[in-house]
Amino acid sequence: MILGNDPVLLTPGPLTTSPATREAMLHDWGSWDTSFNRMTQSVCADLVEIVHGQNDYVCVPLQGSGTFAVEAALGTLVPRDGRVLVPNNGAYCTRIIRILQRLGIAYVELALREDEPVTAAAIEDAFNGDPRITHVAQVHLETSAGLLNPLDEIAAVCQRHGKRLIVDAMSSLGALPIDLRRGGIDALVSASGKCLEGVPGMGFVIVRRELLEASEGRSPSLALDLHDQYTYMQKTTQWRFTPPTHVVAALRQALDTFIAEGGQPERGARYVRNCATLVDGMKALGLEPFLKPEVQAPVIVTFHAPNDPAWRFADFYAAVRDAGYILYPGKLTQVETFRVGCIGAIDANELHNAVAAIGRALVALGLKVR
Ligand SMILES: *Cc1c(COP(=O)(O)O)cnc(C)c1O
Repeated sequence: MILGNDPVLLTPGPLTTSPATREAMLHDWGSWDTSFNRMTQSVCADLVEIVHGQNDYVCVPLQGSGTFAVEAALGTLVPRDGRVLVPNNGAYCTRIIRILQRLGIAYVELALREDEPVTAAAIEDAFNGDPRITHVAQVHLETSAGLLNPLDEIAAVCQRHGKRLIVDAMSSLGALPIDLRRGGIDALVSASGKCLEGVPGMGFVIVRRELLEASEGRSPSLALDLHDQYTYMQKTTQWRFTPPTHVVAALRQALDTFIAEGGQPERGARYVRNCATLVDGMKALGLEPFLKPEVQAPVIVTFHAPNDPAWRFADFYAAVRDAGYILYPGKLTQVETFRVGCIGAIDANELHNAVAAIGRALVALGLKVR
């Protein structure tokens, strides 16, 4: 194993990074230094290119975790008198609603089950039912269950109805195809520490330039004002406020690795292999995925917990952790589950070994699965 003594993180971020990405952080940079600011510019240029946004879109990086960037995008891009449709099939959609509530922006919730992707038809019905809707805030891959929402169809229906679309692509960007040239998407939000396999600490918003330029003075927050961050960077090449220097350096290396791997198609293919190895192995142990295969994204898999009164996630977690693998608790409201991520600088072999460790943990804890 290339990972030394660190456990393998089977979580959707922070995740296991490559040694090269970790080594990229073994330097210090000044925030005024041109070499650092060129690094930021090259990172932003590559991020726009990954989703084919050249010419019309710009990337605004932001200090903080992914949620900071989601809140910045909503606060900067949605006018106070806007009305946002939020298709809701999980905790990250609910988080968007909480942000809109804090911002005092009107919203319409389209309630769905946690295993039910939104459809373009349901969105169209919502538009027809409430013509005051101006925007849609859509989570592409609902990490709560690992559920994939059909982004291309959603973008098409938004475009047809002239609604603005802001996409939380936190756990999909880099792994799943996203092509801004198809139209319909106004802004994409993601972060350094998910499928790009950088370390956590920087979010970013890839946004239509004209939309951002029309957003001056709108954000109620200074620190989360994307327009201010962008114009300051354009003017000075520097970040407003202290930049996460080591995170940017790690992301630069992670992007080089991403490009060398073959970009999104190859990154996605590796995750598909990881996911298949995981699901097949877990099924052989008697552990069933919560989602149907056709709506399961190859990023994180939710499994039903063993149906045994002795089941305690904390004990299971500790046993698997002792074997070198970090699992993730479930995030569903109705059923007892746990989650296993298949992203990070890991291949199918690690997932194979993780399944073996999970099998041994079940035996050691005396848990019956069926
Ligand atoms: C990880 C994630 C976020 C951001 O979460 P943070 O904890 O702030 O990094 C937002 N949306 C989705 C879908 C995510 O997977």
